Amino acid sequence: MQEQSFIAEGKKRVEEAWKAVCHDVQEAALKSGRDPSEVSLMAVTKTVEPVYINHAISLGAALIGENKVQEFLGKKPELQGAYTAHLIGHLQTNKVRQIVGEVAMIQSVDSVKLAREIGRCSEKKGIVSDILLEVNIGRDPDKFGILPEAAEETACEIAEIPGVHICGMMTVPPFDADLEKTRRFFSNMHQLFIDIGSKNIHNINMCTLSMGMSGDFREAIAEGATLVRVGSAIFGARNYR
Ligand SMILES: *Cc1c(COP(=O)(O)O)cnc(C)c1O
Repeated sequence: MQEQSFIAEGKKRVEEAWKAVCHDVQEAALKSGRDPSEVSLMAVTKTVEPVYINHAISLGAALIGENKVQEFLGKKPELQGAYTAHLIGHLQTNKVRQIVGEVAMIQSVDSVKLAREIGRCSEKKGIVSDILLEVNIGRDPDKFGILPEAAEETACEIAEIPGVHICGMMTVPPFDADLEKTRRFFSNMHQLFIDIGSKNIHNINMCTLSMGMSGDFREAIAEGATLVRVGSAIFGARNYR
């Protein structure tokens, strides 16, 4: 009984937070003169228990993001409703085989080597995997991602790999940057996205620009994000046990 009311409380909090974030995303889009339908809101569900994820899905969270292959595959059998999942966390080549075909997109492709492995496993399964190129726009030594100056060349190289399709780019700016600096990183990222997209490179469709999290999704939307990844603002502070 106590456990049940605990869960009911939690679901209520998720519901209120989800509605508030939906509202804020829409408002941020309108404020920057953008059509809110251009911006997808991803619910980042790492460390979140399936009961709350399912509740968010039932409220309309159609796009979810998970960081870890094992965690996602463990929770997947319990997920219900109409949703699409993306992998957004760092992916090691030895885990690629398990995740290919299990998510609609891998957002965290940060090397040619990883893309080759995704392509190889995808071809084996008879599919083409949609991917984003993760760019380390702040050149943060603690972060994964392709350095911005290498992005175009790397994109061209990955575009040649069978079994993968480049749909855009994603980034995580340095954590220690203030909002003004972060916004500049987002702006640089958008420029890179436009520049590479305008070259009409075969097998590259720059449609998705994934940037912005709980603390900075408004700035990301103002700078052209088409997908924001929001976790704690929806599900509360994470509990890494
Ligand atoms: C955890 C995570 C998020 C969400 O972060 P919040 O600050 O909780 O919104 C977004 N993107 C990536 C890659 C993450 O790992």
